[in-house]
Amino acid sequence: MSAPGDADRPALEGGLPVRDTLLPFFRVELGSEEEEAAVRALRSGWISTGPECERFEADLAGFLGLPPAQAVSVASCTAGLHLALRAAGVGPGDEVITSPMTFPASANAILHAGAVPVFADVVPAWLTLDPAAVRAAVGPRTRAILPVHFAGWPCEMDALGGIAAEHDLAIVEDAAHAIGATWRGRPAGTLGDAAAFSFYATKNLTTCEGGLVATAHPEWARRMRVERLHGIDLDASQRDGHDYRHWESVSLGWKYNLNDLQAAIGRVQLARLPEQVRLRREADSRYRAALAASELVEPISGPAGAETAAHLFPVRLRTERLRVGRDHVLRALLAENVGVGVHFRALPLHRFFRDAGHRPEAVPAAVEASHRLLSLPLHPGIKELEQQQVVEALLRILRWYAA
Ligand SMILES: *Cc1c(COP(=O)(O)O)cnc(C)c1O
Repeated sequence: MSAPGDADRPALEGGLPVRDTLLPFFRVELGSEEEEAAVRALRSGWISTGPECERFEADLAGFLGLPPAQAVSVASCTAGLHLALRAAGVGPGDEVITSPMTFPASANAILHAGAVPVFADVVPAWLTLDPAAVRAAVGPRTRAILPVHFAGWPCEMDALGGIAAEHDLAIVEDAAHAIGATWRGRPAGTLGDAAAFSFYATKNLTTCEGGLVATAHPEWARRMRVERLHGIDLDASQRDGHDYRHWESVSLGWKYNLNDLQAAIGRVQLARLPEQVRLRREADSRYRAALAASELVEPISGPAGAETAAHLFPVRLRTERLRVGRDHVLRALLAENVGVGVHFRALPLHRFFRDAGHRPEAVPAAVEASHRLLSLPLHPGIKELEQQQVVEALLRILRWYAA
């Protein structure tokens, strides 16, 4: 798409855009505390995986209500998903059921483990895995379910847990959007056998790049610690110092470790997380209230029992009531200086997955949503006035194009 211009602004017919500068879709929220923590780590002498990573793991385990050994920091959520699937025993010949409404990383991790992703359709209102579709997708090769908590809303974990128990499947949560979310009062990330969080730049908690995998099984954690660092049985901090021990290569491994600068930033971010999630939820509620009366747009929400981490604010456009499609509305919003995103276009619509034989027709609810979704700017620092401008621009555009 080319840059939007006046031709994309029919809704205002020559008037001024609602804003004179672009409201970014996302803003980084790092302050002096994160800077100081990073500098302290830099000056400490430990710049790779060391004591800060260990403290970050303990802090995050505490946040989740797990023993410290069961939180394993890693280089990314994708790395965490890969290690968790391996710990679950997933390998060549296996199938893993996952959501088509996700970032490619969720399915790529399944492929990295040597297994085949099987996309089950989503619940239209929530865009998380439909338990009935998951049940129908279970076959003799199914080894695990990889549910994706969407936009901050946890999946229907009781139903998915029931299917997993019935068929002896592992559950590995993709909790990239969901740090701070709860399901029936329990934190997302503790609802299956293992869960991976993302600390990528745009996520609710960031370490610039990074991730963490939490698990209910101490033996999975032990295996993941070895595999995250070359498959050797000692990490760097244990290789240093007076009591020399030979380390040994004990399995195939990867270079998936987090470093102490990232962990130091992550500890500050974690301390700020509850307040940041509170601000996100407030912004989320303000959007919902402002859009409630419109019959042209429908915010995505989650099932009863789910409390959102308010990572994203996706809405479904009622394009059957509009004269134009989603991409037209998207460009019109950009022309009003409102940053937007699309989360997501279902994976079977992408070339790589289509070429691998995944059929969009198999996931009609995900495909329908793919052509109607738009994500509005949502971050802890967004101002009420900015949200009013977003809503004003969106509603004006939709009214203009109403059929
Ligand atoms: C961001 C994201 C990931 C990947 O996270 P990384 O830390 O970049 O590997 C995985 N799944 C979902 C749903 C995401 O949004």
